[in-house]
Amino acid sequence: MEQKEDKLKEVISHAKEYGFVFPSSEIYDGLAATYDYGQLGSELKNNIKSYWWKAMVQMHENIVGIDAAIFMHPTTWKASGHVDAFNDPLIDNKDSKKRYRADVLIEEHIEKIRQKIDKEVEKGQKKFGPSFDEEQFRNTNPNVLRNLDKIKSIEDRMRETLENNDLEGVYNLIVDLEIACPISGSKNWTEVRQFNLMFSTELGSVAGDAATIYLRPETAQGIFVNFLNVQKSGRMKIPFGIAQIGKAFRNEIVARQFIFRMREFEQMEMQFFCRPGEEMKWYEYWKETRAKWHKALGLGDNLYRFHDHIKLAHYANAACDIEFDFPMGFKELEGIHSRTDFDLKQHEYHSGKKLQYFDPELNQNYVPYVVETSVGLDRMFLAVLSSAFKNEKLEDGSERAVLSIPPALAPYKVAIMPLTKKDGLPEKAREIIDELKFDFQCQYDEKDSIGKRYRRQDAIGTPYSVTVDHQTLEDNTITIRDRDTMEQIRISVDQLHSMIDQKVNMKTLLKN
Ligand code: ATP
Repeated sequence: MEQKEDKLKEVISHAKEYGFVFPSSEIYDGLAATYDYGQLGSELKNNIKSYWWKAMVQMHENIVGIDAAIFMHPTTWKASGHVDAFNDPLIDNKDSKKRYRADVLIEEHIEKIRQKIDKEVEKGQKKFGPSFDEEQFRNTNPNVLRNLDKIKSIEDRMRETLENNDLEGVYNLIVDLEIACPISGSKNWTEVRQFNLMFSTELGSVAGDAATIYLRPETAQGIFVNFLNVQKSGRMKIPFGIAQIGKAFRNEIVARQFIFRMREFEQMEMQFFCRPGEEMKWYEYWKETRAKWHKALGLGDNLYRFHDHIKLAHYANAACDIEFDFPMGFKELEGIHSRTDFDLKQHEYHSGKKLQYFDPELNQNYVPYVVETSVGLDRMFLAVLSSAFKNEKLEDGSERAVLSIPPALAPYKVAIMPLTKKDGLPEKAREIIDELKFDFQCQYDEKDSIGKRYRRQDAIGTPYSVTVDHQTLEDNTITIRDRDTMEQIRISVDQLHSMIDQKVNMKTLLKN
């Protein structure tokens, strides 16, 4: 665990040192849970967006994208349930004065029991060797079974208390489980209270006329209220999807863990409208499709797992998360929710407008059902950055910090370096950049030794470095170095474009 926490610290400081992520308004000591993306961070972020947009919109004939306003009519949030029910249960530790989400404290307790089970399985593996049957072990070992029972009974109590808004019950559960504050170690808790996560502000300059409006806590509602606009103007036939990338705001109670939990963040969401009764088929389809999208990046299949929700949101009839093994452990990266016809029906009710689809094949009007996929852009960023970051020991005993970012997402695709600052080498290097820059983000670097320049490119994840030397002027060849293998080969300048393209083109990812 300690090692993992150190890893997060290392990632945070690397991200700052190389211009990926800065604390927001840092000269004023920052603002809690708010971050700015720097010159490299915004490139990486744009590339992640583009990978998502291309995979969802460009690769699906029946999905289109929109860009709705952040401000929406206040009734939107009444209809969606956010005014009344977008709450987190919070609890304070009286000794450390730290505030926690009560449900998260309980989930972390469950995770500890899960880890105990995994340890037991590991022990079994060691004891029985190659003949070990993990499934049988998990189904019969008394310690594993006892812990599974424990988890089930905790989950049952958690679901029941949260669903019934029984805050005293949630408090009692925390006390019964003897959960202690990770900071003070004490079990001295306040009562559990509900806290609405929406930010509000006022519209209009005249105080008397001002109306309370909210910063959207999710991008989804911008899609629902535009359902008919898009369906009609785009002549969309069910099943079809509407995608959107945009900012969302939540006044998070516990905003630690870097860009994992921010108060201002970005979501990439898609609402897929289908026939009532067909939603489970599409739910399964999108679970699988989204998992593939993640795994195609090659960060490591073992870094993902599905987690079914034990407490369904008021609008859902099935929901799961794709969790990622962040430096803080497995946590939600993306949510996939079967939202039924809840949202559209609510908007029909509150707006008095029909939000229905005429299905020519069934010769029938209905309110479509919706399956949503919702991934946090910033969490994707953290997943890529934290899994790509490595401190490698090299054969010669030296060390290098390298970001093995999937090449299609890397901020710079290639660095062009003249060996020296004279003899026409810089001019030749610029000439090569002038050819490549239309297709690839290039960096020119002539400062320090070539070795140091390679290290700098490794640290920012540039897949290729190209050195221009005196031989280049004679025979038009350059040395190209691969970030991951550190191998260098000499090729003709004419081959450069296609070699880079093969490695960094997003097409390879999309075809996967
Ligand atoms: P959590 O349980 O972690 O608070 P959630 O279940 O409330 O997340 P959703 O409402 O399903 O999250 O939002 C969809 C996605 O938006 C999440 O999977 C996550 O990637 C992202 N997201 C949600 N809240 C934040 C936040 N505060 N900061 C960054 N990303 C977020």
